[in-house]
Amino acid sequence: MKQSVKLIAGNWKMNGLGRDLAEAEALKLALEADPAACRVVLCPPATLIERMARLLGGGAVELGGQDCHASTAGAFTGSVSAGMLTDAGARLVILGHSERRAGFGESDADVAAKTEAALAAGLEPIICVGETLEQREAGEAIAVVSRQVAGSVPMSVAGRPFALAYEPVWAIGTGLTPTLEEIEAVHRAVRLALQGRLGAAGDVAPILYGGSVKPANAADILAVPEVGGALVGGASLKANDFLDIIRAV
Ligand code: PEP
Repeated sequence: MKQSVKLIAGNWKMNGLGRDLAEAEALKLALEADPAACRVVLCPPATLIERMARLLGGGAVELGGQDCHASTAGAFTGSVSAGMLTDAGARLVILGHSERRAGFGESDADVAAKTEAALAAGLEPIICVGETLEQREAGEAIAVVSRQVAGSVPMSVAGRPFALAYEPVWAIGTGLTPTLEEIEAVHRAVRLALQGRLGAAGDVAPILYGGSVKPANAADILAVPEVGGALVGGASLKANDFLDIIRAV
């Protein structure tokens, strides 16, 4: 199957102050000196996007948001719209991260609506799916992620750039990872679900793996068939760790 270029995205979550822009700058300088063999994306908190965009200057590191509201504007205190992310300099956005699904009650339908909003604002969505430990132990991982793909991916992504991210909830921030065989099995299921929903338009979108990706395991995970990149949390906060993962492509 035709594979698109790998994508390595860093999710800073609710971490990062102005002083941490130094990490983004170190990343930029390293990639200017020795370009990456993949796309590199940083998703800082919304408060840093504009400053980071100025610092990075549209070069080797692309910028993404971590969430957006499904509406374009209005009385939604504390929320950020997709158009605001674009305006600040983001070109991608993570949607349906398990911390949003679990902590903010986001349903598949919510994620699909946010994805529509992101596309309308010209953003490239990275749509996250993944099973809980209980679901994995009950043998439901593939059924759960297939259902999440069917419900969270709107038809309007067909023909637009987008990515999926398979992130087992129990692997996020825990140091635990599935075996390489388990990762491959779920990625193949995500691909099938995507093709089931979109037909041939589901053939090439990269399917990232996320969940405790570190410099030590990145090369093995990135070599798994159907793994189109990585969504990296903790290890993306320091330029050196993130660079080691990028160099593993
Ligand atoms: C994430 O939050 O998307 C993630 C994968 O986190 P970590 O790499 O820290 O497990």
